[in-house]
Amino acid sequence: MSADQPVLEINNLKKYFEGNRDIVDVIMRRDPSQIQAVDGVSMTLEENESVAVIGESGCGKSTLLRTLIGLHDSSAGDIVYKGTPVSEFHKADWKEYRRNVQVIFQDPFNSLNPKMTVRESLTEPLSIHGIGDKEERVRDVLKQVELQPAEKYLDRKPANLSGGEKQRVSIGRALILDPDVILADEPVSMLDVSTQAAVLTMMKDLINDFGVSMIYISHDLSTVSYIAESVKVMYLGRFVESAGTKALLRDPKHPYTKALVSAIPVPDPTYDRERTEMSGAPRDPIDIGEGCRFRDRCPEVIPPDDIEIDQQAYREITSFRQFLEREEVGLDRIKNIVDEDERTALVDAIQSEYFDEPLSGKNESTLRAALTSLAEGNKDIAIDSLQERFGSVCETTPPEVEPEPGWHVACHHHANADGTAAEETVPPVEQS
Ligand code: SF4
Repeated sequence: MSADQPVLEINNLKKYFEGNRDIVDVIMRRDPSQIQAVDGVSMTLEENESVAVIGESGCGKSTLLRTLIGLHDSSAGDIVYKGTPVSEFHKADWKEYRRNVQVIFQDPFNSLNPKMTVRESLTEPLSIHGIGDKEERVRDVLKQVELQPAEKYLDRKPANLSGGEKQRVSIGRALILDPDVILADEPVSMLDVSTQAAVLTMMKDLINDFGVSMIYISHDLSTVSYIAESVKVMYLGRFVESAGTKALLRDPKHPYTKALVSAIPVPDPTYDRERTEMSGAPRDPIDIGEGCRFRDRCPEVIPPDDIEIDQQAYREITSFRQFLEREEVGLDRIKNIVDEDERTALVDAIQSEYFDEPLSGKNESTLRAALTSLAEGNKDIAIDSLQERFGSVCETTPPEVEPEPGWHVACHHHANADGTAAEETVPPVEQS
């Protein structure tokens, strides 16, 4: 490995899973649907660097980790370890890789064998890799993970350890082989808050003292400042924003990151921070198609240039069109309440069920015309007319741009039509 070569390089990595093939797929001889768990992710991890990957449950971060350690085969892209793609690994290379790339799992309560003492848990990886001087190494590691004196812990089983102590032993198991890289999967999420801070601070010290590199995976943006110099925010299989930790927490640019940052608890109860609200749940990652994957929930989704409309009213219309496309509008239920021959009453009922915000002018008349088409059984015409007037640039995939050096964001608010970074136009959400 040359001096300037990253320890780990991930290039356009994809991991797709096949969905279930239903009877219609079989009859139509269609390929099964695909779940795009990780979709074109790239990053580098330098020696002694710590990078956080943050996102909600189901965003693909754990699939990314499992692909990195070879538990999943990638669907496309490369993982390059010290200059060698893992796709070119022989059996011996995999053994070496697994020794040098260690994982700390989320659940300290299940990641240790309940029948093994601390000494046995820490000795086992050394035996697997044929390493001698076990007792001395075990004692060294207990010191590193601050379980002292060693005699107090060596013969205890997990049932006699607190949650924090168990996670320290798990960290010790990862460190005992002197790895280059640690992949930490939500390592403190099951610990109480005071223990979280202590364990994260200790992990950060270990990174500094032993020259280990780390990918820290978490759903919790509030923990990253303890441990990572930079953050990658993941949404539905893609990185949507990457930047230095302090800068990103101070001035997030992507609307999803803004929502995550605004949800971080503020210790001062008198401080009233503005929350960026996200509505709904992430869309189904099956055959997800084009466009910004956050658009169903984005509080800043972009209306066409030539219409004037309040953001909330616009979001109601775009959400309604998506409900229509996904056949989730409860038309039959509404028809049971209203006489379906009373067309105007039916249109009024649909509008009052799905829309709260007032509209006027061409916006109002286009919506009414679309709802009339729907009431007449012409769903596709309704969708097309809503699309024609209210279609958004956010339905095309945003390019990733670099508005500032080392800061990457994938959002149309930050990109010009030619894919270059736009001047800053979105006021930052006020942060603490
Ligand atoms: S591209 Fe559009 S929908 Fe996506 S985050 Fe940016 S503003 Fe929101």
